[in-house]
Amino acid sequence: MKIVVVEDEPRIASFLSKGLKAEGYAVHHAMNGRDGLSLVMNGGVDLMVLDLGLPDMDGSEVLRKLRQVGEQLPVIILTARGEIADRVEGLELGADDYMTKPFAFDELLARIRARLRPRGDHGAVLRVGDLKLDTRTRRAIAAGQEVDLSAREFALLETFMRHPGQVLSRAQLLSRVWGFDFDPGTNLVDVYVGYLRRKLGSGLLETVRGSGYRLLAPAES
Ligand code: CA
Repeated sequence: MKIVVVEDEPRIASFLSKGLKAEGYAVHHAMNGRDGLSLVMNGGVDLMVLDLGLPDMDGSEVLRKLRQVGEQLPVIILTARGEIADRVEGLELGADDYMTKPFAFDELLARIRARLRPRGDHGAVLRVGDLKLDTRTRRAIAAGQEVDLSAREFALLETFMRHPGQVLSRAQLLSRVWGFDFDPGTNLVDVYVGYLRRKLGSGLLETVRGSGYRLLAPAES
């Protein structure tokens, strides 16, 4: 399990790195937000511990950028005591948990373990309603029938199925399915949503005007 620690105070960074390494985690440390972001973008990171007060950009800015590109890894924020406004802001930006400094290492460890516990999607099969996606064999089954999907269609559907009921913007879908360098003005996402609707029925993916698309959760579809 790989953890990125973004913390500019050497004493705290070293305390965290040593402690987490002793627990068997691979720890990568960044002194500032930019380096922290690029460590995550390089891939293979399971969790981020993120200080809010950083020299180049605020921790909340780091979190915002991560979520903007659809990066869903768990993020535990470290805040100075009493930064309540930051806590609220962090929650809205999609942080998973908080620790107020000074903190007990064991408590942080417990929270990291809780966030790294396998979630429902750790099996290779994703299910939403009567739709089943086997990410290992790359097979899609809808209402008991196998559906033939192209690689992009599969990747797009997988992204929706990992976030059922959640609105995903075109930018998020583009970066997740096609990579970061695509022209945000392209209509690729709309075209591929159209392909999926044709193959899987028009009611599955809802257009949220001005925001993007969402996969209707089973109770709604
Ligand atoms: Ca700091």
